[in-house]
Amino acid sequence: MNSRPDPNESENPMNTPDLKVDALVVGGGIAGMQSALDLADQGYRVALVEKEASIGGKMIMLSKVFPTLDCCSCITTPKMSAVAHHDNITLLTTCDVQALHTNGNGGYTAKVQQNPRYIDADACTGCRQCEYVCPIDLPASYDLDMGATRAIRVPFSTAVPQKAIIDIEHCLLCGKCEKACPTDAVDFSQQPFTFNIETNAVVLATGFQTTPTDAKREYGGGKLLNVIDALSMERLLAPTGPYGHILRPSDGKEPESIAYVQCAGSRDQSLGVPYCSRVCCMYAIKQAMLLSGALPMADITIYYMDIRTFGKGYEQFYQNAKAMGIEFVHGKVARIDEDSEHNPVIRVETIENGRIAERTHDLVVLSVGMLPGENLGPIFDVQPADDGFAAIPDPTLSPSATGHPGVFVTGTASGPMDIVDSIIMAGAAAAQAAAYLETMRSSVAAGPTAIPEVAHV
Ligand SMILES: Cc1cc2nc3c(=O)[nH]c(=O)nc-3n(C[C@H](O)[C@H](O)[C@H](O)COP(=O)(O)OP(=O)(O)OC[C@H]3O[C@@H](n4cnc5c(N)ncnc54)[C@H](O)[C@@H]3O)c2cc1C
Repeated sequence: MNSRPDPNESENPMNTPDLKVDALVVGGGIAGMQSALDLADQGYRVALVEKEASIGGKMIMLSKVFPTLDCCSCITTPKMSAVAHHDNITLLTTCDVQALHTNGNGGYTAKVQQNPRYIDADACTGCRQCEYVCPIDLPASYDLDMGATRAIRVPFSTAVPQKAIIDIEHCLLCGKCEKACPTDAVDFSQQPFTFNIETNAVVLATGFQTTPTDAKREYGGGKLLNVIDALSMERLLAPTGPYGHILRPSDGKEPESIAYVQCAGSRDQSLGVPYCSRVCCMYAIKQAMLLSGALPMADITIYYMDIRTFGKGYEQFYQNAKAMGIEFVHGKVARIDEDSEHNPVIRVETIENGRIAERTHDLVVLSVGMLPGENLGPIFDVQPADDGFAAIPDPTLSPSATGHPGVFVTGTASGPMDIVDSIIMAGAAAAQAAAYLETMRSSVAAGPTAIPEVAHV
């Protein structure tokens, strides 16, 4: 496989395809990976475009998954690996789709920009010698700024591909990494490179983001030191997490009393998020169970408006949590303050008796909700629905179809959902894309061919 092309020749007109595939999948989270694998296993050539330096999406950041409590790394990494090694998948990381045009034959041409890693990805072996000598310590973005990383790094221990990337904004250009690299892979001269992908079908799997921790000001997220969000707790609980322990931010103490505040970013008109994010009840129960194991002496309380356990085995999971001694308080949290030792103080109106109570905990976790990851309107002409996620013209009978022939949406790009539903929907999108490709088959003159100008990283 070739390394990067000449940056001076980095602009291609839209009518010159560098890569021809049957399907373009945008987004390498669990939904995108599953759609890509389902199509590739049927013999279709797929290009998977991911904007980050590794595939895996949010799922690879999680500790364990409800309701099975499987280790997330253990079940996500093999999928990531399968994508990277599949003969029919061209994996393109650090890439953004900048434009998508119909090509007049029922297919599309995507203009894609590959952003530089400043590393020759073909030469890099992921040995991390560069990382060990880098003098710049930075907050680890993968660990949501808990723990530290280096300006040059492999993004995280289970990243796919295992290739380094340089955070050029923070790099001193001291050259220590260049000297340490045994394969001469460091290349500060790399530039963004634009190329075209010709495809007959497109699957959009751009995922979600969580509601900002500080969205609900009454809850003090982003201001009170010991109020964190649930994704941060996922990293604290993960075996690959920053500390290997559950430590609260203000003083590094192990918390003895932990509270979850539900609907801290969903079902709240004041935040513009009136819908239920569907995963927060279950992930809070899951985290509470994991915390019971990690901190057996800790008291764990979940403040909730409703508990929604809609999936297979979910209600039993909830009942198990209650049996483990996790306290469920039916009430709406009005606000969170802190005492002189930074202990969060929760003010809650209990629903059963209408009383206002104040309770102090060592650590509060906000069960933040789901927002769309990307506005798919400008580039893909898939407009947002009222909730901001991709509008689906026929959500009952055709939940993946966007209304544009051959363009499908899947996973949380289409609305809040858990991993099980993301995988089911990814399969549905792949099946619909395959059906579309079959209708196209007669009109496609030549079979798909990859032209090796594009670094497959
Ligand atoms: C705190 C928390 C805990 C959770 N725990 C569980 C659990 O235990 N069990 C469970 O079933 N679910 C859980 N979930 C839900 C789970 O995370 C999601 O269902 C799942 O990650 C959705 O996958 P996805 O592929 O749709 O989106 P994502 O994981 O968001 O992946 C989207 C991918 O697309 C990429 N992307 C975005 N825009 C572009 C673009 N323009 N070009 C290229 N790439 C792009 C992103 O970088 C990302 O890699 C949890 C969620 C949270 C917030």
